[in-house]
Amino acid sequence: MLAQLASELGPGAVLTDPDLLRTFSTDAARFCPAGTAAALVRVRSTVEVSTVLRLATQHRVPVVPQGARTGLAGGANAVDGCLLLNLERMNQILVIDPREQIAVVQPGVVNAALSAAVAEKGLFYPPDPASWDSSTIGGNVATNAGGLCCVKYGVTGDWVRGVEVVLADGSVMRTGRVTAKGVAGYDLTHLFVGSEGTLGVVTEVTLALRPKADAPLTAAATFTDVTAACAAVNDYMSSGVRPSLLELMDGPTIQVVSAYRDLGFPPDTGAVLIAQSDEEYRAAEDLGAFADVCRRLGAREVVVADDPAEGELLIEARRLVGPAHESFGADLVDDVCVPRARLADLVRGVARIGQEYGVLVTCAGHAGDGNMHPAVVFDPADDDMSARAEQAFGAIMRLGLDLGGTITGEHGVGLLKRAWLEAELGEVSLAAHRAIKRALDPLNILNPGKVLTHERRGP
Ligand SMILES: Cc1cc2nc3c(=O)[nH]c(=O)nc-3n(C[C@H](O)[C@H](O)[C@H](O)COP(=O)(O)OP(=O)(O)OC[C@H]3O[C@@H](n4cnc5c(N)ncnc54)[C@H](O)[C@@H]3O)c2cc1C
Repeated sequence: MLAQLASELGPGAVLTDPDLLRTFSTDAARFCPAGTAAALVRVRSTVEVSTVLRLATQHRVPVVPQGARTGLAGGANAVDGCLLLNLERMNQILVIDPREQIAVVQPGVVNAALSAAVAEKGLFYPPDPASWDSSTIGGNVATNAGGLCCVKYGVTGDWVRGVEVVLADGSVMRTGRVTAKGVAGYDLTHLFVGSEGTLGVVTEVTLALRPKADAPLTAAATFTDVTAACAAVNDYMSSGVRPSLLELMDGPTIQVVSAYRDLGFPPDTGAVLIAQSDEEYRAAEDLGAFADVCRRLGAREVVVADDPAEGELLIEARRLVGPAHESFGADLVDDVCVPRARLADLVRGVARIGQEYGVLVTCAGHAGDGNMHPAVVFDPADDDMSARAEQAFGAIMRLGLDLGGTITGEHGVGLLKRAWLEAELGEVSLAAHRAIKRALDPLNILNPGKVLTHERRGP
């Protein structure tokens, strides 16, 4: 089959070097097994994707679609004998239409490249995962990625009007629309958004754009008590304003960041809240309201930046959370999202779980959405600690569900969270998921074993 594929796709498209295959067999997630791939296939067009899937169906070979492999759930990891279908070379921005305010792009376009290209035309593509300088639009659509500005602008799926997908048998389907409205038929577009490569391969995406926003102004508040910071999030979000960013870092996060770079936080800092507003004319007023709420709830210090450059300094601590954790050892990043009213219960519960399992757990994230990224920090060379870290990781998802939330607000299920997905969905919804998978991929060749599992490994 590989010979047939190589002859149909031409030289350089089908690669079998074992070192290369190993490199391309994992994404950025930890604790996710990866199988041994048969080949890496680098495609340039929808026709080539269709060829790959037609042959894969004919020969019953599994196919794992891949963007930039920045995923945090093992979704792009190899399964034994698979073709790793890499879409990074399909990286053309096909249309930016300022009149209709849409862009049409191939899946391998990197998020930052699209954002820069539309900005040149006075337009804005809001979804901004922190991996935006490397992750692809195809990957963002397949995981329904979120980011810092979701609190105002929503997630990737809110900006997807239509997709072209290649189905398991190689047939090509277009869903959705280019128009601002359209309700014809089932909403198949959003069936593929977040489907993590298990229902079809996204080969083109039509995205909505909006006029460029103003450069945001920023404010930051420090608290000794994380519960008060969570209360400030709720009060501020209930006051009728809509910040373009509202992030929280708990005390342990600040300690990890301070060990990496001293930004002057007192050692007893219990929480830091950062808010931004890009509201034309009203940004300063909105951040003034944020400052008032924080002071009323006992903030130790509140700073409102006078200009966007000063704001960048305030947000530096948040940007350093990832690099600081990397320098501290390995971390397993959870992605639970709870109703905002339960934010304090989540942050306190996460700290309790850290104590119970004897591991450091920090908690930072998109507080305005209730979507936090508790990070379990551990030494991967210590087997006992690694096992406790994995248990703590699971306990945090259980906590998220118990608080009325979800196991994943933006990173997806992949391999990492399959067992907990079953707990979240319940039997009827799980059966509907399986029926949809069977209808679109009867031979189970598309990213098999991701999202759904046949094993019952319940939490
Ligand atoms: C430092 C860092 C920061 C991050 N920050 C965020 C964040 O703020 N918000 C967030 O949501 N995520 C974040 N992530 C996770 C990750 O970047 C996102 O999930 C991203 O959308 C993955 O894009 P990718 O191109 O790397 O896809 P991959 O990792 O290659 O693939 C992800 C999934 O999508 C499937 N897939 C990829 N392309 C296609 C396609 N064309 N058709 C069908 N299926 C496809 C794969 O099979 C896999 O299941 C972060 C990751 C890192 C490493």
